[in-house]
Amino acid sequence: MSYIYRTYIADGREYFESGKEGYLKKTDFPSSESLMRFLDLDYKELEQICDSMERAYQRLCPSHAVEDANVIRKGLDALAEKHIFFELLRLDWAEKLEILSERGYEGAGTMLPHKRVSHLPTDVYMMAKQIRSILQMTLDVDAGGKDPRSASEKLAAYYRNTYRDNSPDRLSLFPFGELTLRYELTEHGSFSEVLYPKSYPELVDYYFRQTLINGQRWRICKHCGRYFPIRGRISAEYCDRVITAAGGTCKEVGSTKVWEAKMKGEEVFTMYRREYKRRNAWIRLGRWSQAEFAAWSTVAQKKRLDCESGRISEEEFSAWLKSS
Ligand SMILES: [Zn+2]
Repeated sequence: MSYIYRTYIADGREYFESGKEGYLKKTDFPSSESLMRFLDLDYKELEQICDSMERAYQRLCPSHAVEDANVIRKGLDALAEKHIFFELLRLDWAEKLEILSERGYEGAGTMLPHKRVSHLPTDVYMMAKQIRSILQMTLDVDAGGKDPRSASEKLAAYYRNTYRDNSPDRLSLFPFGELTLRYELTEHGSFSEVLYPKSYPELVDYYFRQTLINGQRWRICKHCGRYFPIRGRISAEYCDRVITAAGGTCKEVGSTKVWEAKMKGEEVFTMYRREYKRRNAWIRLGRWSQAEFAAWSTVAQKKRLDCESGRISEEEFSAWLKSS
């Protein structure tokens, strides 16, 4: 193996180092970010990339053509761009393709573990599904009410019950496996457990168990409907994912919406309040009876709620106030 791929957590951040010794590419993220991005992967997009790689592989075996090998290389780059975990797959295959190219691509069929790629979209889909259901069961702050058990107790109960029932739900259990860890001195000048993964599922396993061990709390974002790790205030309702072309995040878009709704609510209330006072004065002036006012007030109250909840527009509400 001529490349290195390793990752570790230090000071609450995730560090990734990959490439050739002396030319390592280094990236880091906030905690639980790589797992969140893994959950966000678009299964259909992965399928497109992997299908074209699989077709190129099927052609390469008999053809030994450079063009086919290049299609595979492009696919590997595309996968690595989708997620940092797939950088490992890219390095592994790139090395194999380099050796194969020296032999005119003779023996590609035995050397390239193509099933790992052709099964990748389904594997990713399954893992993400398992992780989401376990997050919901253990670390989701909004699910499970006031269950006082720790994440690890909930996880244990979930696994125990699912095994005992011998139910098809066993497929929903994430298959934790062996990890290749070394305890070593990192660039941070401190000792950390460093993962040297043999395949990308080990990375998923490692970062998933870290989030469980740390009891990291997760929530479904109120705007995009996807899970995010809560790193700051526990009351945070929106995630930091960039969702607009201009670089706006769910948090920004979400809070603007809340603010707009609040402003709208205040405007509607002021409008209603003004009219209410005016009509109330009519009683003193003898223009309206108490009963007339009460009848109007009941309808006005209902119209106001309709407007606040968006069932009627502000214009309609205002028009009704004027004409009633
Ligand atoms: Zn979001």
